[in-house]
Amino acid sequence: MSYLTRAHARADQLIAIRRDLHAHPELGFQEVRTAQRIAEILGELGLQAQTGIAHTGVTAIIGAGRPRLALRADMDALPIVEANDVPYKSQNEGVMHACGHDAHVAGLLGAAMLLNEDARAGKLNGAVKLLFQPNEENTVVAPKSGGQLMVEAGVLDDVDAVIGLHVSSVLPSNEVFLRAGPFMAAVDIFDGTIIGRGGHGAYPHQTLDPIWLAAQVVNAIHGIVSRRIDPTKPGVISVTTINAGSATNIIPEAVRLTGTIRSFEPAVQAQLHTDLERAFALARAWGGDYTLNLQFEYPATVNDARMTEFMRGVAIDLLGAARVKESDLHMGAEDFSFMARAKPGVFFNLGAKKDENDRPHHNPRFDIDETVLPTGAALLAEAARRFLAALPQPK
Ligand SMILES: [Zn+2]
Ligand SMILES: [Zn+2]
Repeated sequence: MSYLTRAHARADQLIAIRRDLHAHPELGFQEVRTAQRIAEILGELGLQAQTGIAHTGVTAIIGAGRPRLALRADMDALPIVEANDVPYKSQNEGVMHACGHDAHVAGLLGAAMLLNEDARAGKLNGAVKLLFQPNEENTVVAPKSGGQLMVEAGVLDDVDAVIGLHVSSVLPSNEVFLRAGPFMAAVDIFDGTIIGRGGHGAYPHQTLDPIWLAAQVVNAIHGIVSRRIDPTKPGVISVTTINAGSATNIIPEAVRLTGTIRSFEPAVQAQLHTDLERAFALARAWGGDYTLNLQFEYPATVNDARMTEFMRGVAIDLLGAARVKESDLHMGAEDFSFMARAKPGVFFNLGAKKDENDRPHHNPRFDIDETVLPTGAALLAEAARRFLAALPQPK
């Protein structure tokens, strides 16, 4: 029986796991209950979970010998008040699984069930490692995300390759989207202050108005991608917060600007940083000043060509060629990128559009078509089975 058939037989169980996690979402590095549930379910399978990795991460090994492949799921939720009226609505007010990481955990546990059955029957050629990773979203703005910390904790040291998937609430359900090479963007964040000299709103000439300076800086920032970056190469700078002032008749001392920077190529990234600095420096042309803090967040997620073709083959055999498509580039970012930098890796999207309602990621009405849970489980399990089958028999 194929993994897809066997996964569908477990659909109710996987949906129950996903709904339990959905009702009890936890923010990054606070996934205590989530990790506990994962360890319990793995324990019921007779697997020994390692907990407390990268704070709240969980790993487990299925099969015998050195694990050769890692399968990764992230498990954190977002600081959003859920607007869906469903039986499995978030019971943790203000926290919501609005990116589908609950589905990732359920899907990987489903893959674990399938692979574990084969391992017990002596039909798994070697071992596979499960990675349940905390804090992908990094909404707590920790110095390092869960994926980065897991890599630093050495979870990939013994494996040859790593595979991860992300459900997509906006792509057609049960279809796979993937691409070799750059897939998701690098993200950096900036936090800057334009410094002027405050005073009475009626006497601007006696001040150095930082709002006037900031307006010129923002205008210059918005010219960087269109006038300074090669038009064939993607890049984004978005100013996402701007804060200053306290009253209608006071010119403030300073304006604070923060925002996000996206790119795929290191040369583009470097130029975006340099030119952002130049835009802020316009404040000095009028006698003002600025501070600018640029912080590297996640590198671009770059899929290994061979792993991508391998995964494409698995998906086509399981779902049929009509359901496996070439993905667009995404300006969104993923901390799977740290794993794909450490070992040959592939990260792909599994379409999970629920209905005709608008349910984008990170939105209070986010939800998915739960029929993708067995599909995701089968894709990961089949990838692992096939990856291991291609290796020499373990000694
Ligand atoms: Zn997200
Ligand atoms: Zn996500």
